[in-house]
Amino acid sequence: MKKTVLITGGAKGIGRATAEVFAENDFNVVINYLSSEKAAQSFASELKERGLSVLVLRADITSKVEVEKMFEEAYRTFGTIDILVNNAGISHYSLFPEITEAEWDRMINVHLKGMFNCCKQVVPDMIRKKQGKIVNISSIWGMVGASCEVSYSTAKAGMIGFTKALAKELGPSNIQVNCVAPGVIETDMLNPLSEVDKDLLREEIPLMRFGQVKEIANLVLFLAKQESDYLTGQVISPNGGLVT
Ligand code: NAD
Repeated sequence: MKKTVLITGGAKGIGRATAEVFAENDFNVVINYLSSEKAAQSFASELKERGLSVLVLRADITSKVEVEKMFEEAYRTFGTIDILVNNAGISHYSLFPEITEAEWDRMINVHLKGMFNCCKQVVPDMIRKKQGKIVNISSIWGMVGASCEVSYSTAKAGMIGFTKALAKELGPSNIQVNCVAPGVIETDMLNPLSEVDKDLLREEIPLMRFGQVKEIANLVLFLAKQESDYLTGQVISPNGGLVT
């Protein structure tokens, strides 16, 4: 039977590439988005015109009510969610004394509360079925910390702790929970960086380039397949050698 994946923040950047790769590999794909309805719908139409199976649903993942509604609709449409990809994220660059409480709360809410809300919707059913995969998109900065990104690094490190703990708890139910912690990937998230900063960053990467969204999407696909069944509680970091 065709498997179903739900990808948060699935209409842009890494999430969009992941949605496309899963759809091309014969999954039903639920694409969650927050804003830019037109872009999300036109992406979904593009995939549907290619005969691929997709459903596009709006929800702010920080809202329990919106998340519940989204999952209800997804379960109603496809009957199952076999894979959850917690990809939605935001970035924020500023010195620590300048971070406001509201910015801090938003950062923690999007990455940690959002992941919590979505996992709550799929884990009970996965336990019943004794099968399921959860892939959390953290960041290299959650592993090593980034200056001017204290809130982001904290949230992303939290995702790693969550992954490791949940993997231990759900292992006996044959549910794999893993983390992908990308290095610097070419998406809109890099927009706040100046070209000079980008060049400096690129020079630090042994492979001398930023990663491409497809390189992350293919790794997520691997983590959703049977071939990776013995991998759980792991943090895999496609980062061009920046951190080894
Ligand atoms: P992006 O900005 O292109 O995409 C992020 C998506 O998340 C957007 O579609 C946005 O609308 C969505 N989103 C944000 N808040 C949301 C919410 N509350 N509810 C629902 N959706 C929400 O960025 P990206 O680079 O594709 O990032 C994807 C993930 O990868 C993020 O978690 C990011 O932290 C992580 N990441 C990115 C990089 C990078 O260099 N681009 C590196 C490491 C990790």
